[in-house]
Amino acid sequence: MVDLTIHTYTAAESGLFVNSYLLETPAGVVVVDTNLLVSDIAALKARLAALHKPLLGAFITHAHPDHFNGALQLVRDREVPVYSTSAVARAIREVADAKRAQWSPVYGAEWPTGTYYPNTELRDGQQVTIDGLTITTSELGQGESHADSYLLVQPAGGAGEPVAFTGDLAFHRTHPYTADGHTGAWLATLDRLAKELELSGVRRLLPGHGAPTGPGLLADQRRYLLFYREVVRRLAEGAPKLSDAAKTDLEATMGRFLPDTPLTWMIGLGADAVAAELAAEADRSSTERES
Ligand SMILES: [Zn+2]
Repeated sequence: MVDLTIHTYTAAESGLFVNSYLLETPAGVVVVDTNLLVSDIAALKARLAALHKPLLGAFITHAHPDHFNGALQLVRDREVPVYSTSAVARAIREVADAKRAQWSPVYGAEWPTGTYYPNTELRDGQQVTIDGLTITTSELGQGESHADSYLLVQPAGGAGEPVAFTGDLAFHRTHPYTADGHTGAWLATLDRLAKELELSGVRRLLPGHGAPTGPGLLADQRRYLLFYREVVRRLAEGAPKLSDAAKTDLEATMGRFLPDTPLTWMIGLGADAVAAELAAEADRSSTERES
């Protein structure tokens, strides 16, 4: 008997290729991340309905709308638990209205009109058991977003290998979102995550964007971020933002680093945030040298 079948709903490019995972167990379905746009959220709901099993719970990996926007359509009331770590829940409460103000003019009626906040907060390392699945949520702090976490899912009775849902800690074959300006912390998180997944014996990683792969994806993301930071550092020359010409240069350079890869508009989107982050890092290290 198979205790866990993982289905995936992936948005088109307009919805950033974001993945929602449907973990089907004998008694129901657990959803990991809930998509971005109204039409994709409706398609995710249809995918869930086609399994003819009840929704047992939903998990939100981190505080970005392409992961939390669909919770309201999935869970109208408190009928099922919507889990996240406490830090992720707090960050969603802090950013949801600002994200709607920023992106509703771009996406129009495709942006959901309301937000459903996680109703069940988890401590770092807390385990939840749902229909035989053991799901462990670990807090990772700032990284790709203002609050990241990942899930380790162990099928019933220890049968089968654990799998990791890593949210946006590593994008697989798309350019990543860097506009929250925590790339330094993100690099440290990638190191920690790689060690933890190795200790847990995880060989299968299911990312927020892109196809399932192995933990080697974390090293790929690390190399991308190191190179991106280096190019921004060179182009910014200490300034907390990049000129339009410098952004064009950055886009061309990262395009050559990761060719034939979508979401290229993310490259320029994060440029100023990372320039500001690097300028602040330089300020801090010169203050440390003087004192
Ligand atoms: Zn995402």
